[in-house]
Order: sequence, then structure tokens, then C-alpha cells
Amino acid sequence: MSEFQIYKQQVVDTCHTLLERGYLKATEGNISARIKGQNAFAITPSNYDYAKMQAEDICILDFEAQRLEGEMKPSVESGMHAGVYQTRPDVHCIIHTHQPYASALALIKAPIPALFDEQVTRLGRSVEIIPYAPSGTGFLKNAVKSKIKNGNNAYIMQNHGVLIFGGNMEQAIHNMALLEKCALTYLIAIITEKKVTRIPFPIREIAFAKLRADEKKFAKI
Ligand SMILES: [Zn+2]
Repeated sequence: MSEFQIYKQQVVDTCHTLLERGYLKATEGNISARIKGQNAFAITPSNYDYAKMQAEDICILDFEAQRLEGEMKPSVESGMHAGVYQTRPDVHCIIHTHQPYASALALIKAPIPALFDEQVTRLGRSVEIIPYAPSGTGFLKNAVKSKIKNGNNAYIMQNHGVLIFGGNMEQAIHNMALLEKCALTYLIAIITEKKVTRIPFPIREIAFAKLRADEKKFAKI
């Protein structure tokens, strides 16, 4: 059995969970997990139906996107995932989806301000917009790398979808669902055209400090 089996299975299980919950459709999006102690990660293959996906379909790549194991063509966004792992040592799992409510905000370039305590504790001070760049390009990888240094765990990619991080897969899944809830709530609020209130500034900073402390722990794993 592959030494990477545990990571491959984790990625496949996450794909099936997100498919069942409606966050992934057919072949959209991609999911990866950092291999502990190595400059490598497990990632979903390109353009392959999640319903059919099995552990042996997952690709193992190093941070130069060179294949270490797997027969399938890796996700076209592999370079973007490698860039995140190189930039953010606290990130151990990445989920990229085209989930509809957050993607709606991606179309109107509307970042989500600090609306809820739990949002800031898990996702960061705000959910910012990563400027548009075509999928699978170095332009997108560089746009992502320059944005994620602020330590947030959720980003909206203009005219594309979302990018979610976690210290482990359970966190990443939770963060992805939390982002979609915040996006839907924010959309409903702005449609009313009334003033959208935010949590008080000191509370936001206390909540963000908790997230940063959590990230420091995961950066040492
Ligand atoms: Zn995408």
C-alpha cells in the first residue's frame, strides 16, 4: 500500500462528503491535503467525476508540482495549492469550490465584512476578494500568494469561486460551510438596502487573535 494512502483516502472522503452536501458538482473544484514532514501534497485529479473517485485516483505532487505518485492528470490548480502550502505553513488542507452564494459575491466583488464572532475566529477579519486571473495560470497562483499572507482562512476569487483553508480537513470543511452561510446571510442583508451592521472593532480583534494563535499551533505540526 502507498505511504500516502491515508492522505489520498482523506481527500476522497472529503470529496464524497462535499458532493453529498451539494458544495461540489460533478468535476468542479479541487481538494488537497499537505503531506506532513514533506514538501508534498495529495490533490484531486483534473476533470474527473467525484462520484467515481477512489483513493488511487488522487495525485501526490511536490511543491514544484512534480508528480511523486498517481496515474491521473492532477488538478489544473495544483500550482495554486502548492503556492498556498509554501506561503502558509499553518495550512494543512485546502478546499476550492464554486459554491453558489459566495460565488455570487465573487461576481459583484463584494468582500464580506466582520459580521459574526465565529466568522472572524475561523475565517479571518473579513473575506477578501482575490482579483481575477485565468484558472490554472501563474497569474492566479501569484494573485493568491500575495493575498493570503494576511492569515485569513477564506477568500472569494473574482468571477470564479472560493478558496478555503484549514489546519486539518475537519476545519477546512467547517470553514467552507461557514463561508457559504455568511455569504447567503450577507446577500440577503444587502438586498434589503438597509445598513449592514458589523461586530464591534475590539471584539473583531480579540476573535482574530484567537485565529492567529490557532494558526501558530498548526504551523508547528
Ligand atoms: Zn475553480
